Amino acid sequence: MFKVHAIPPERLPELLSLMPKAELHIHIEGSLEPELIFALAKRNDVQLPYADVAALRSAYAFTNLQSFLDLYYAGASVLLHEQDFYDMAWAYFEKAKADHVVRAELFFDPQTHTARGVAMGAVIEGLSRACRDAHTQLGISADLILCFLRHLSEDEALATLEEAMPWREHFIGVGLDSSELGHPPEKFARVFARARELGLHCVAHAGEEGPPAYIWGALDVLQVERIDHGVQAIHDAGLMQRLADSQMPLTVCPLSNLKLCVFKNLADHNLGQMLDAGLCITLNSDDPAYFGGYLNDNYLQTFAALHLNAQQAYKLAANSIEASFAPEADKHRWMHELKACFQGFAEQD
Ligand SMILES: [Zn+2]
Repeated sequence: MFKVHAIPPERLPELLSLMPKAELHIHIEGSLEPELIFALAKRNDVQLPYADVAALRSAYAFTNLQSFLDLYYAGASVLLHEQDFYDMAWAYFEKAKADHVVRAELFFDPQTHTARGVAMGAVIEGLSRACRDAHTQLGISADLILCFLRHLSEDEALATLEEAMPWREHFIGVGLDSSELGHPPEKFARVFARARELGLHCVAHAGEEGPPAYIWGALDVLQVERIDHGVQAIHDAGLMQRLADSQMPLTVCPLSNLKLCVFKNLADHNLGQMLDAGLCITLNSDDPAYFGGYLNDNYLQTFAALHLNAQQAYKLAANSIEASFAPEADKHRWMHELKACFQGFAEQD
């Protein structure tokens, strides 16, 4: 095993940037940059309520989750055709490649698009084609996770899942996102039971703004394999113990939490405390175009603000690989690459 203490702190930013890592919490619609929104609006003749890129970007000052979602849905309105979904995902994969992401599990929100009359096939086929090209052209392993919008009804979620069935082989799991407060996991018990029957992986946003009870609900009722966010678990000692004992992965998104005012300052973020408590924490970008940073930005800024070290960097990257839904042989290979990367940094000094 490499000597992680042999890695000097000043080399940590370089190590964070170069180490192989997985991203498990990225909403692909949240990777739409203002420039691409305007380019797609022009291509599709969609009118936007913003004069230009600068005006749109200046609207990215959020007070909570809902204020962000309102803008997010406006941005998604430019996505109409299969190629639009491909272009959006491809732009993300190019950034992921630069950040040394070896595995990406992309959330997508079909209801955001089908409600506007976009065909389910256009959404899934465009994203799926980009995933295949990411693998062959960029060497990134990528899969899709279909998310239900929790501010809509469970019947609508069930209908969405059935509507997506002709493309069953194009996605590996289901998730639950959008407005959390007032929409507890229990509301979606039947659709998650159905997804499990279909052999789909299950994840859910819980404990971003919502109480620890929502995390209990996601675990016990939805029987999820990962919790997305989960930072509110810190307020429930029994839950913290359960998460640590079970090594249930949490996909934490620090820059998102900062932008949506879950934490006032990045230095107040509880990621370090949760790592110290022995939880299986991973680090992710959530909606990078809206929250001021892709995956490496999240690592760099969080490590600087919380004074985290190389040991914690290794833990976060290893957790991201192990908590992914990739085949075991791939995980084994990436873990080997991760160790070799750290070994290289430890030996150079
Ligand atoms: Zn999210």
